[in-house]
Amino acid sequence: MASTTSANPLPLKDRVAIVTGSSRGIGRVVAIHLAELGAKLVINYTSSSDQADLVATQINSLYPGDAPRAVTVKADVSDPSQVKFLFDSAEQAFSSTIHILVNSAGVLDPKYPKIADTSLEDFDRTFSVNTRGSFLCAKEAANRLKHGGGGRIILMSSSLVAAPMPGFGAYTASKAAIEAMVNILAKELKGTGITANCVAPGPIATDMFFTGKTKEMVQKYIDESPHNRLGQSEDVAPVVSFLATDASEWVNGQTIRVNAGYA
Ligand code: NAP
Repeated sequence: MASTTSANPLPLKDRVAIVTGSSRGIGRVVAIHLAELGAKLVINYTSSSDQADLVATQINSLYPGDAPRAVTVKADVSDPSQVKFLFDSAEQAFSSTIHILVNSAGVLDPKYPKIADTSLEDFDRTFSVNTRGSFLCAKEAANRLKHGGGGRIILMSSSLVAAPMPGFGAYTASKAAIEAMVNILAKELKGTGITANCVAPGPIATDMFFTGKTKEMVQKYIDESPHNRLGQSEDVAPVVSFLATDASEWVNGQTIRVNAGYA
């Protein structure tokens, strides 16, 4: 049986975690939260190297005097060789097998086009990062995470899958595919001790959420929220962290919606 987190003040002590898309937004806060629980972190990004460095510095300052607890690795999750490089870098940085993958990297078309107006190029880009990226990271993790306990795969979906809205066709479809995949992955990992789950946030105040939205559009999301506010990345991180700990062993193949009751 899994031990509870309360029995151990640092439930992820010295476990190695990769968080894709952790230079900004939800991934950034998830990475810091996992580090506060004792994990060693790989901060992944594609273009925001300065922001990724800041996240690593913040994590390393949590444990002054220790060897670095966080490193940054630039890798595009939609490229198989770069995903392999990301995992290789994690193993080398900490001389350890990897325990936890959180795939937070994702894109959303800020034009919010109807399906009739979505270009093939934008559709392909959405699926390339969100779906292909999740597949490549999950595949690499399934082959390389530690067996026998502590192995955790956590993929980021969206509550839009449960509450579809016009203007999010390609994006929602790209996330629905991830939810379908995670349940099968969990079953295929039988015997490894690795669990695989999705976290599906509702509207969260990040660059992704605000880009392309007017003040009125943002206010509409706030008005529709049962808690009368936008979610913050800090609302999502504890759920991801729970799934990363041993206490979550019996949660497997699930999609956890984190949206204040929005969907
Ligand atoms: P964000 O603020 O736009 O941050 C996106 C992150 O993903 C950045 O770190 C970015 O790196 C990285 N990234 C983008 N493309 C990448 C690629 N090809 N390879 C590696 N990294 C890449 O987004 P967010 O709001 O934090 O969203 C995080 C996840 O939650 C996404 O999967 C998103 O779909 C999902 N989600 C978000 C919301 C929301 O309302 N915010 C709601 C539901 C689900 P750079 O900094 O280098 O660009």
